[in-house]
Amino acid sequence: MYLSAANHRIPLSDGNSIPIIGLGTYSEPKLTPKGTCAKSVKIAIDTGYRHIDGAYIYQNEHEVGEAIREKTAKGKVRREDIFYCGKGLEACKDAGLVKSLGVSYFNRRQLELILNKPGLKHKPVSNQVECHPYFTQPKLLKFCQQHDIVIIAYSPLGTSRNPTSVNISSPPLLKDELLNALGKKYKKTAAQIVLRFNIQRGVVVIPKSFNPERIKENFQIFDFSLTEEEMKDIEALNKNVCFVEMLMWCDHPEYPFHDEY
Ligand code: NDP
Repeated sequence: MYLSAANHRIPLSDGNSIPIIGLGTYSEPKLTPKGTCAKSVKIAIDTGYRHIDGAYIYQNEHEVGEAIREKTAKGKVRREDIFYCGKGLEACKDAGLVKSLGVSYFNRRQLELILNKPGLKHKPVSNQVECHPYFTQPKLLKFCQQHDIVIIAYSPLGTSRNPTSVNISSPPLLKDELLNALGKKYKKTAAQIVLRFNIQRGVVVIPKSFNPERIKENFQIFDFSLTEEEMKDIEALNKNVCFVEMLMWCDHPEYPFHDEY
């Protein structure tokens, strides 16, 4: 599928579509000055992003709303062109308040539970999980593709490496030698290489940045492509170790990461 900065939506199984790159908006609330999120979302919309990933628990969802409202009021973008991803929401779908429903952190068994649910009303169109060259998710990706479920890659750049919430025993993704060598070849950064890797295999990416230059940098991924061999080389970097382990829930019966995938 040809993807460009102006046209980079991919289809969802419910007839809607999703922009293949979105702006992640999670930032530790205590360390993030008020207004930073709104400012970043506005820069992202001006840059060409049409997909914003947020959540009530990020404590800045109102700033995302404020930014989208301002940009639509000024005629910069139409509301219907913005794909906003919130979290949990079957009743809202029934009420017509949301268009598409996806899930997050679901492993294969949990997806099968939903897909096989008698009388299932809304099949999930997407599964938001960690996905990047050190955690490529080959089996889950294949399973999801077979069931028309789009994978949305959270932490696609390898997270902010906050040691209180991230497994930092895995090395920093963006320092990887191969990714930087490919960056050199294409005059791109390692971040752009990892984002391109995922979108080129149909995975939606939602890199978080509240830095104006990096918000723009992360969107400049439509003007080059990786060869098949390079895609395979990047896939081979997989360490099958995730950065975001959510260990506080590891005793929960539905903790998703005990299963192979
Ligand atoms: P990312 O992999 O997106 O990395 C974000 C970090 O990378 C930040 O420190 C950012 O800093 C930095 N960064 C951004 N762009 C670049 C660049 N070009 N070069 C170097 N560094 C860069 O991590 P996240 O964990 O934030 O994941 C992205 C989003 O996914 C979240 O914000 C959230 O929306 C979503 N998410 C959803 C989860 C879920 O429960 N479903 C779980 C985890 C994340 P700076 O801002 O200074 O640029």
